[in-house]
Amino acid sequence: MSDIRNHKCPGCGSPLRFEPETQMLVCDACGSHFDTGTVSEYDDATDGIDGEDESSWESYGGTPWSDGDVRVHICPSCGAEIVTEPTTAVTKCPYCDNVTVIEGSISGALRPDCVIPFRVSAEDAKRLMSEYCRKKPLLPRRFVEELHLEETQGLYIPFWLFDCSAEGRATYLAEKVRHWSDRNYNYTETTRYRVFRRGGMAFSKIPADGSRKADDTMMESIEPFDYSDLTEFGTGYLSGFVADKYDVSADESKVRADARVKRSIDAALLATVIGYSSVIPTGSSVKIRDGKVQYAMLPVWLLHYNYRGKRYTYAINGQTGRVVGKLPVSPGRAAAWFGGIYAAAAALIAAVLFLL
Ligand SMILES: [Zn+2]
Ligand SMILES: [Zn+2]
Repeated sequence: MSDIRNHKCPGCGSPLRFEPETQMLVCDACGSHFDTGTVSEYDDATDGIDGEDESSWESYGGTPWSDGDVRVHICPSCGAEIVTEPTTAVTKCPYCDNVTVIEGSISGALRPDCVIPFRVSAEDAKRLMSEYCRKKPLLPRRFVEELHLEETQGLYIPFWLFDCSAEGRATYLAEKVRHWSDRNYNYTETTRYRVFRRGGMAFSKIPADGSRKADDTMMESIEPFDYSDLTEFGTGYLSGFVADKYDVSADESKVRADARVKRSIDAALLATVIGYSSVIPTGSSVKIRDGKVQYAMLPVWLLHYNYRGKRYTYAINGQTGRVVGKLPVSPGRAAAWFGGIYAAAAALIAAVLFLL
């Protein structure tokens, strides 16, 4: 047990005084009484809770390519760096449709760790797209005829997948309010509680889009991907397809993964503080451990079309066949969470919560 003279009131933060008559710690500011054991336990449990969160990511995904594994093509128009297997030709940029794509050098391009292979073939993609259009009776006929379905391009989009375990602690100020009346008065009794929670969660494959050029809204719409199909990457998977090289680094994405883990843990802990009339979070800390980042490629069919001066991009999830269309390309280049909803659900399913 730590020195009782240094304890602060868990209710209001004022210094506590030991009262020999009752053998209890007393707060002169708010009138609370505590037994010394309870206060010590509370202090030990919440020690450093408002300090810095800790996160340690042990390994980063991606390895250098070997010579001759791939070719790199650069789009001078949008800056996309496209990786292909040496025999696959790139006729135009998968993002902006620009047809002058120049050969680049392989430096700095990372070989992915894993891939979700295409399940939807080029033929499937064309069929899915025309079915999609047929379900839209108001779509102008010319639009469908001029869609150039044969130009559908299979693109692997770069992703960082974050695995980690994390422990969170949080304190809350909670209140229970009780009302009653007698003949003369209405009474209100407010009981205040200091609530403490601690819990651990395991996070598996929190996805972060590694490309600024992939339109975030559209990409989120074709989610989710089924990660049980994730397999070790081999250059064979690139054959006939193009792959984008990441332009958002694992380090940049890690900040978002950290924030996402913290938000998920905070929310899961708060959800267990029930039975009070009000709950105010007062402090929290998260420790992220055993963090591993994998570099992954996820399959998407992309189709661009200019119609009456407006540009439309269609995407088909290359694994599930889900079509997302009629979405103008957003000018926003900010990298955002890809499939945040799926990540949250996966995190909750994987959650093992132990509560005090
Ligand atoms: Zn107090
Ligand atoms: Zn381009």
